[in-house]
Order: sequence, then structure tokens, then C-alpha cells
Amino acid sequence: MSDSEESDEEGGLGNLNRLIVRPPGHSGKAKRGHLCFDAAFECGNLGRADHITELEYDLYVRPDTSRPRARFWFNFTVENVKQDQKVIFNIVNFGKEYTLYDTDMTPLVRSTSRQKWQRIPKRFLFYHKSLVHRGRKILSLAFGFDREEDVYQFAAAAPYSYSRLQKYLATWEKRAQSFATRKTIAQTTQKRQVDLITIGDLNAKEHENKDENITKLKSNETKKRVILILARSHGGEPPSSFICQGFLDYIVSSAENASALKDNIVIQMVPMLNPDGVFLGNQRSDLLGSDFNRCWHRATTFAHPQLIAVKEHIRKITAEKTLQLDFIIDIHADISHEGVFVRGNSYDDVYRFERHAVLPKFLAMRVEAWQSENCLYNADATLVGSARRALPTAAVDAYTLTVSLGGRRLNPRGPYIHYTEDACILFQI
Ligand SMILES: [Zn+2]
Repeated sequence: MSDSEESDEEGGLGNLNRLIVRPPGHSGKAKRGHLCFDAAFECGNLGRADHITELEYDLYVRPDTSRPRARFWFNFTVENVKQDQKVIFNIVNFGKEYTLYDTDMTPLVRSTSRQKWQRIPKRFLFYHKSLVHRGRKILSLAFGFDREEDVYQFAAAAPYSYSRLQKYLATWEKRAQSFATRKTIAQTTQKRQVDLITIGDLNAKEHENKDENITKLKSNETKKRVILILARSHGGEPPSSFICQGFLDYIVSSAENASALKDNIVIQMVPMLNPDGVFLGNQRSDLLGSDFNRCWHRATTFAHPQLIAVKEHIRKITAEKTLQLDFIIDIHADISHEGVFVRGNSYDDVYRFERHAVLPKFLAMRVEAWQSENCLYNADATLVGSARRALPTAAVDAYTLTVSLGGRRLNPRGPYIHYTEDACILFQI
């Protein structure tokens, strides 16, 4: 696995805006079948489209601002198609060679008359080293347009936009108003709001345990337990938003365990840390080019107001004698691994490390697509700016919880199960 060193010039610096790609030498009014590419919409990403032959087009992902190697997320529309027109789209500038396109992951497609996302069948894809693209690994996909009036949309995964989150939260907070609050903790450079949801009451006193048979809890065990969930540092990782939505759906449901969670702990969630990056269709960075999972240790009020706000929030909780922050879980999605797994920290003290390993063991028992072999615990310097390394104080356990962008297998030789758009509850993914 190696990152390509290509510069950003090949993907263009902006998204295509209703570009009609004509055959060479053609001028005048576009004919039906001269494809019109567009990515100038929320979460859109396509930087360039070249006409190769009547059948074949080379497509370039638009790199992130100031981060030319971040090139994977794509999300664009094609219209002005001819009935039964067949095409081959070559996506030629991914930033990584080894991706799940080597196995069974496939992109998604939908159209105006069929709004539900569908995976493009594997037999229509070819992920290969192409000599005409200087030996680069490219994704070729064969597609037939079957409805002339439709606009077709292609994406690396089902998008989950900032607008969708805002709409969802507006409805959710009405359903959850008896036990949850929502507030804005920061505004981004482009004036989008960063939400903090609190499920439970940070200020409520623990009610006394009336069961006389239960030994009185020690003082440090009477503290209110708090869990902080972060998500969507990276725009190209919408599955982390589906997990958040799945969890929020679950918590307002009548499930018995949902009530137990609400009654016994406080769960706080920042469901979208990087709304600007999500909106822009970036893979990792925000508007100013920062990778939020690499700069927690050097965050500034000017460039990373939401990171500063989260750090200040953590400082307040940990300073509060009646509260105990147990876990910070930062949710991401991965383009190279299947299933669900964590990345955690390593500790020299064996007892401390054993405690750190408890939550992953718990998840391994409950998440059916858990991939223990992908779990990793380290303390290397390159990840000093990640949330899991930079945020925990001594007693707090912080993890990166990662879910595949593509899907899962329930056993190594079992069938591949694609993740779908339907919101997934964490413990069922
Ligand atoms: Zn990520």
C-alpha cells in the first residue's frame, strides 16, 4: 500500500459545474449523448472529465484543498444521456492503490426515477494497473444508461450531507426533548454550526440506590459516567454519520437497553466535526486544508474552532468532581478494510493497557462484523495529532472506531455483505 505522489493538477481545483464533454472537433449545440457532468452540489466531487472515445471517459477526483494526495471520495451526476448509451468511466487518480475495490466493494448509482442507491455489480468493474495511465491503478466501470430523461448519480458511498444532518437533528430533538439537549459549540470558517448533543443530564445528582442488598458504592463509583462520541472529521467517510444516526434513532426507541443507557450514563455526541469538509466533498480536510485527525495537538481558535471547543468541553468535564469521562470514541470509515474495528493506544503499564482493551473486547462480542485482526494499539509519533492520542487524560480511554466504507463478511470465506444507506445501529453493523 503506498500513497501516490501525484500533484493536485490532474484533478482540477474546483468541482465540475455542468460540463458537457463533447467529442474532439465538435462545436455548436450539444447533442443527446454528449454527457453533462456535474459535481457542483453539496458533497459533490469530480474535478475533471476527459473524452477518450465515444465510449470511454477518464474521470479525475478533485483533491482536497492543500492536501493533494487526499483523493478518493467521488460523487457526481451525469445527464443528457442517450437511450441505451453504453460507457466506460475510468477513475484514474485515486490517492491510494490498495483499496477495497481490490475485493468486493463497488460504487453506488441512482437516478432521478430510482432514488434508492444501488451498488454497481462487481462484474461491471475492473480495478487494474493501466499502462496508458502511466501504470497507475484505475477503476474502470462499465455502465449502460437506460432512461434518457434521468439524471444519474455515481458515488463512492451513500453521501450523508451537513443539510441532511441538520434536518435529521431538528426532528430528532423534538422526539428526544425530555432527556436530551442540542447546542452549537462552534461555528466553522464557512459559518456552519457544529452540534453537541447531550443525552442525559450532566448536572443531575445520582439518585440513591434503594436496593439495600446492594453494597453502597464507593465514592468514585457514584460519579456520573460520561461517554463522548465524535464523528465525521473526514468528509469522505459518510458511514460514520449513518452510525451516529442509527445510534440516535436507537436512543429514542422503546428498546429496553436504550432506557438503561439514558438512565445510567450521559452520552455526548459531536456528530459532524468537519461540516465544511463534508459540504465541500473533501476526502479528509476542511476548507483551510487541515486534517482534523492529525491536528488536535496543535489546534488553534482561528483554524480549528470546533476542536478547541471540544477540548475545552473535555477539560470542563474532567475538572468536575461529580463527573467521570470514561470513553472518547471517534468514528471513522475506512476504504481499505472490511467490517468494524478499533485503533487504540498502547500503555507501558500492563494493567492500564488491560483496562484499555476492555471496551474493544466488549464490542468484539456484540458487533457481528468485528475484525479483531484489524485492531491496532500503538503510540507512534505520527499519530500524535489524532483524537485518540491527543484527547485522553490519564484515566480516559479514547479510540478510533472504524467501519468499512464498503461492507463486511461474517466469516473470512463468507459472502460479502454491502453496507446500505439504511442507518445502522452500532451494534448491528
Ligand atoms: Zn477518517
